[in-house]
Amino acid sequence: MEPVYFDHNATTPLDEKVLEAMLPYLRESYGNASSRHELGTVARRAVDAAREQVAALVNVQPAQVILVSGGTEANNLFIKGAAGFLKPSQVAVSAIEHPCIAKPAQDLARQGWKVRKLAVSRNGEIDLADVERALTEPTGMVSVMLANNETGVIQDVAAVAQRARAAKALMHTDAVQALGKVPVDFAALGVHAMTISAHKIYGPKGAAALVMDKRLQLRPIIHGGGHEQGLRSGTENVPAIVGFGAACELAAGRTAELAPRLEALRARLEQGLNDMGAVIFGARAPRIPNTSYFAFKGILGETLVIELDKAGYAVAPGAACSSANPEPSATLLAMGVDPELALGAVRFSLGTGNAPQQVDEFLKALTAVVTRLRNLTAMAV
Ligand code: PLP
Repeated sequence: MEPVYFDHNATTPLDEKVLEAMLPYLRESYGNASSRHELGTVARRAVDAAREQVAALVNVQPAQVILVSGGTEANNLFIKGAAGFLKPSQVAVSAIEHPCIAKPAQDLARQGWKVRKLAVSRNGEIDLADVERALTEPTGMVSVMLANNETGVIQDVAAVAQRARAAKALMHTDAVQALGKVPVDFAALGVHAMTISAHKIYGPKGAAALVMDKRLQLRPIIHGGGHEQGLRSGTENVPAIVGFGAACELAAGRTAELAPRLEALRARLEQGLNDMGAVIFGARAPRIPNTSYFAFKGILGETLVIELDKAGYAVAPGAACSSANPEPSATLLAMGVDPELALGAVRFSLGTGNAPQQVDEFLKALTAVVTRLRNLTAMAV
């Protein structure tokens, strides 16, 4: 039996329409977009058209879209690229950033930068007073994500950007988890740069963009043939870029209709979770509509994920589970969540294919698993 997929913040399935748009560029239209002959021209036109679709979704001009291989690369390009043009000062990033912002920012310490983590509230929202405190020191750049990948909490990026600009700092937002779930308008956010990625919006893996203010100066981190305005060399991944464009066009047409549907499904889930005594993280803050992040006291998130997987449901643990000793999520620790409770975190993220009946059946399966695990714990005591 195919698992029921509730892990859309990790990645989304490829939309059938996106696949159809991509197929010709995996088959007959295989040209290099830099070649001068007909096959090259066909590929170049496809890249140009996709760039327009991406630009339209976030309300910018196509020339502001730098196509790269992933959200990870776009975030690295901003942090390292901006550092290439600035004298070392302070880099301020929220305490809940994805590692592909947190780690490159931390790495700047080697070049004499001071790394400042911006605090979040117990609800998981950026603390604007702490942003203001941080900005009393000379600051070269600020990065605050638009929606957190674990809690789904939406950050007031426009308010941070206003403060960053007043302090003459460059402002970046990682909008990877917000795109396709809430409207994302580059100019309205007031940022200098923004990261988006195709595989979180029913597009393919391996295509993403750094959307930039035209005046922003960045030093490339990948050098070569000078593609993407010299900012990102390398032969374009034409099929993936075409898929990214198609996914953006789909998102533009359906986000407004999709959001309330997903929100209703989440409310259905969270009603059940509340009845079972779960703690739901960030529930009081504005959130992207598809995400619920919860824990049951005394039950490891990893155990729940494994048991639910056996029952046919794909969800994600909140802890970094790469080692034998799972580490509680840095996002939850920054929110002041007790580390033991944080180890219980499970992320449930909905997508276009989910239906109310799946949520109801998931709740039944979860009840069974939680009851069994609680009984085991009770017997052990
Ligand atoms: N930023 C956030 C908030 C993410 O959730 C992710 C992926 O999980 C990324 C960046 C990385 O994007 P990509 O997988 O396209 O490299």
